[in-house]
Amino acid sequence: HLQLQKVGKSYGTVEVIPGIDFEINSGEFLVLVGPSGSGKSTLLKMIAGLEETTSGKIRVDGEDITHLDPSARDLAMVFQSYALYPHMTVKDNMSFALRMRGEDPTEIDRRVKDAVTMLDLGGLENRKPGQLSGGQRQRVAMGRCVVRNPKLFLFDEPLSNLDAKLRAQTRIEIRRLHERLNATSIFVTHDQVEAMTMADRIALLKDGKLQQIGSPQDLYLRPNNSFVATFIGTPE
Ligand code: ATP
Ligand code: MG
Repeated sequence: HLQLQKVGKSYGTVEVIPGIDFEINSGEFLVLVGPSGSGKSTLLKMIAGLEETTSGKIRVDGEDITHLDPSARDLAMVFQSYALYPHMTVKDNMSFALRMRGEDPTEIDRRVKDAVTMLDLGGLENRKPGQLSGGQRQRVAMGRCVVRNPKLFLFDEPLSNLDAKLRAQTRIEIRRLHERLNATSIFVTHDQVEAMTMADRIALLKDGKLQQIGSPQDLYLRPNNSFVATFIGTPE
């Protein structure tokens, strides 16, 4: 259970997020949408601890994690640009974080094998990133998160580098992964279709302010304001 209480962010004197309140239940898949510059990445980075929170509190299962070190947070973030280590194999890329943490090698092997199967990367374990397609690299990047078995997944436009067909396929894979891992996920996208098809609930941001949060049907049928109606109703 993730709870944001009046979470705000300023860069110097510029306030980009005045203060956001919302909650996500365990197991929920929340899609965060909004125009460019509305604060989506900033919000995710505050939850991940990659940006300092200027005001308010972030809680996980009641525990205040607002100022906790990123490495101490039980979450994984998947970015658009999947920075894999180019000199390492698929397997080594996926196990790197676990090896750094000093996990048991047998346990690491088991988790990597599970993730390889789950992400359909069988046979590619010993390749380097340069020998993979964009979609395969994206799956390796997800595998790196999956092996850590985090409670919370944060996705920042992970599909925007993929072609239409692969995007559609990866949407389904991400949802399936979310169910299989019993995870809680926040997924940022520009794409209304992605939001409508993937979300349990959608949160729509504009100028750092939450316009509406609810099921896709809610936002579509009962928009809070004309911005929501236009954003959800108009294909890109
Ligand atoms: P996009 O869809 O283009 O990725 P976004 O919704 O993710 O946009 P953010 O990256 O969160 O938007 O940015 C929100 C606002 O904060 C923008 O106005 C941006 O210019 C500003 N901003 C982001 N990072 C910084 C920074 N390091 N210093 C100053 N301003 C910043
Ligand atoms: Mg962004």
